[in-house]
Amino acid sequence: MNNNSMTPKIIKISSKDNVGIAINTLENGSEFLPSLYTHSLIPQGHKVSLTNLKKGDSIYRYGVEIGKLLVDAPVGTWIDEHMISLPLAPDLDTLEYLSDGQFDFPTPDRLTFEGYKVDGCAYAGTRNILGITSTVQCVSGVLKVAVEKIKRELLPKYPQVNDVVSLEHSYGCGVAINATDADIPIRSIKNLIKNPNFGGEIMVVCLGCEKLTIDMLLSENEINSKNVVILQECSGYEQMIEAVMDMAKRKLEVLNKRKRETLPLSQLCIGLQCGGSDSFSGITANPATGYASDLLVKAGATVLFSEVTEVRDGVDKIAHRCTNSNTIHKLSSEMKWYDDYLSRSNVDRNANPTPGNKTGGLCNIVEKAMGSIAKSGTSPIVEVLSPGEIPTKCGMIFAATPASDFVCGTEQLASGITLQVLMTGRGTPYGLAAAPVIKVCSRKDLFDLWSDLIDVNAGTIATGEKSIEDVGVEIFNLILDVASGKKKSWAEEYKLENSLCIFNPAPIT
Ligand code: CA
Repeated sequence: MNNNSMTPKIIKISSKDNVGIAINTLENGSEFLPSLYTHSLIPQGHKVSLTNLKKGDSIYRYGVEIGKLLVDAPVGTWIDEHMISLPLAPDLDTLEYLSDGQFDFPTPDRLTFEGYKVDGCAYAGTRNILGITSTVQCVSGVLKVAVEKIKRELLPKYPQVNDVVSLEHSYGCGVAINATDADIPIRSIKNLIKNPNFGGEIMVVCLGCEKLTIDMLLSENEINSKNVVILQECSGYEQMIEAVMDMAKRKLEVLNKRKRETLPLSQLCIGLQCGGSDSFSGITANPATGYASDLLVKAGATVLFSEVTEVRDGVDKIAHRCTNSNTIHKLSSEMKWYDDYLSRSNVDRNANPTPGNKTGGLCNIVEKAMGSIAKSGTSPIVEVLSPGEIPTKCGMIFAATPASDFVCGTEQLASGITLQVLMTGRGTPYGLAAAPVIKVCSRKDLFDLWSDLIDVNAGTIATGEKSIEDVGVEIFNLILDVASGKKKSWAEEYKLENSLCIFNPAPIT
């Protein structure tokens, strides 16, 4: 059969690629390109060889070598993760920057959003939330009861306040507080208190004898009875609850006066991450989100992308976008720190892919990384942050965090994001309490299955119904509508809220 007008069965990104991605599951003997037939079933999202490949040949996807073949693979062969070796990670000492900070991209027609301005903070809130931070897990039981009571008895009296969120975590005591790497969890908790969605209102609940002392989190003029409750100074349980309720009431009174106003996008800071990626993530959801990111950056906003292990193998592909030598030096030092962190336990970045990633067609971390970095678009990388650091510039920023959804989410919140976009291929109902989360899926099948959990279907790109630009504009508009409080994401609607997970690479004692 010679049918040049056949419905596309595979996707090939670069002319250099010698594998294609099955758009849908291909049965054994399927004609996937004119006069080319599969030798076995090729599951959806998996790779099929496009030419007769031999053992030792390089496999190219996205025009990049993702590994070498360990066996022969005649045209039409399913190439799975066991058939490919892992290439060496890019050298970190030879990275070069080229960008002058300019990039050619159309200016979008929306340059403002409706946000909550915060005094003394570069970014505005997208929500008006009372955030109550704990210094140690010991107070969590009391705090949980108090927050339920605040939500039940106080919150309805303050209609301008969206929510009350307790920022509980397992750091604070039983830890080597002077360890070199302890600066990461301490900085993260310190900066989390100041997330713009909390409106600059400080409320911290301490136990009294923990290692994470209040002076590590607040400045001298902030440490007072208006901002800090110490449970060991309360006379019994009833007084603890009362003390937390009293402080919450005073904070709610202030927060209730906050109003949305039209603000430039330079006051918007959002985060991006992937969760449950598949082979389509790098073709659909991530490049579309990358397009939305470029629009946001062009309009003046700040966009953080993270997940060190998913950038490590693509670092040489993004390094040239760094705007100066400091940025590239920090990019390389954050990557080196993570290489060392992993090697302490005799693993490397290939410990990242999950069974679900592999079922979804991703063979190794190189292939996953090439898809992952697409979310950062094409704009200059103006700054690199250590975990939990607050940006000092507007634009595209690499915020070094683990790829774990909960740790990345928490660390990005510490860096000041007020909204997160999560791209998924396998599907996750993930959400955050402190900021709305918009979910973009990579496959139409997932959208059909979870149409009441996924906010944007980027699977339409793989089916040819929409372009990357179409979906990118849709994501851009949804980000601004959700940031402005005009729309809610599904995770926010149902209050699907994952726990915080502070990144603590330091020893626990
Ligand atoms: Ca993740």
